[in-house]
Amino acid sequence: MNKVKCLIIGSGPAGYTAAIYASRANLAPVLIEGPQLGGQLTTTTEVENFPGYPDGVEPFTMMDDMRRQAERFGTTFVSGIVTKVDFSTSPKKVWVEDTDLYEADAVIIATGASAKYLGIESERTYKGRGVSACATCDGFFYRKKTVAVVGGGDTACEEANYLAGLCEKVYMIVRKPFLRASDIMQQRVLNNPKIEVLFEHNTLQLTGEGKVQGADLVYRKGEPDEQLRHIAIDGFFLAIGHHPNTELFKDYIARDAEGYIITHDNSTQCFKCENAQMGKCENEKIPGIFAAGDCADPHYRQAVVAAGSGAKAAIEADKYIKSL
Ligand code: NDP
Repeated sequence: MNKVKCLIIGSGPAGYTAAIYASRANLAPVLIEGPQLGGQLTTTTEVENFPGYPDGVEPFTMMDDMRRQAERFGTTFVSGIVTKVDFSTSPKKVWVEDTDLYEADAVIIATGASAKYLGIESERTYKGRGVSACATCDGFFYRKKTVAVVGGGDTACEEANYLAGLCEKVYMIVRKPFLRASDIMQQRVLNNPKIEVLFEHNTLQLTGEGKVQGADLVYRKGEPDEQLRHIAIDGFFLAIGHHPNTELFKDYIARDAEGYIITHDNSTQCFKCENAQMGKCENEKIPGIFAAGDCADPHYRQAVVAAGSGAKAAIEADKYIKSL
């Protein structure tokens, strides 16, 4: 058994920033790095919107910089996946790979969210070479080019509008005969001359020599008037939703209907959930558990916002630990 003051779960911008702050506060934090070292950001090609890198930065370099900064002040890194937690008593219990038990006064959850993908083979083939799940991160690389956005919700509409500001043409590939997005977002898309909405279309596969150059689509799949169609594109953006990586904590902390952790007002403090299966979450804070980054943020999903909330979580964890 390992006894620690502050345990951080997750190695994205939120987790590493929490580690920098917690280690500078002499909390000697332990950070469990999880399945994707560096988090979601490492699936993008280049980061150009994180302050402090005027020439842009390769995502692995940026995450390694954050990691080294946390290491410099005494963070201990553990590679492994958290498989079980018990937040019912203090200190909180966290198991890594089912076997290594950590007992922590405070836990900062920074497990992020994962973009949903369609599940077609060619998405994997072209990941980072024309396939992206973040228009704000990668849109700039497609200036004056043609791209497609998959999805018909608010995210897809927002991404299509954003991309239309940069690109020559934007297709929206929508599986239903209507958009699910809010009226105002739909109007923006439908009134934008650069956006062509392809209703009732599904993507069969992406094509191209070493990078995305086109997509094979099917119109009204399974219907008598089903038709195949090919579009030439340079980028393919998924906007079909995200899953927050919070399933592990569902019996202890309150989450919204989508699984995002609910935090208290403007803080990172979590609420108790005594019996999540029954959907009964108490309006009561759970002492010593803080959430930062995309696992608690259905709105912004930006590295700099995640980093900011990581700093807040560490400051709040420090205050809590000092109060014990
Ligand atoms: P949503 O779940 O609202 O929409 C997902 C979209 O992707 C739907 O059109 C859905 O189609 C489509 N989709 C899902 N799976 C597939 C698939 N396998 N193949 C093709 N299409 C698929 O997710 P969002 O991320 O858009 O939004 C999440 C929440 O965040 C919503 O509540 C939204 O309102 C909110 N939001 C608000 C914003 C704002 O107010 N500015 C901005 C962004 C998000 P179908 O309709 O057929 O199910």
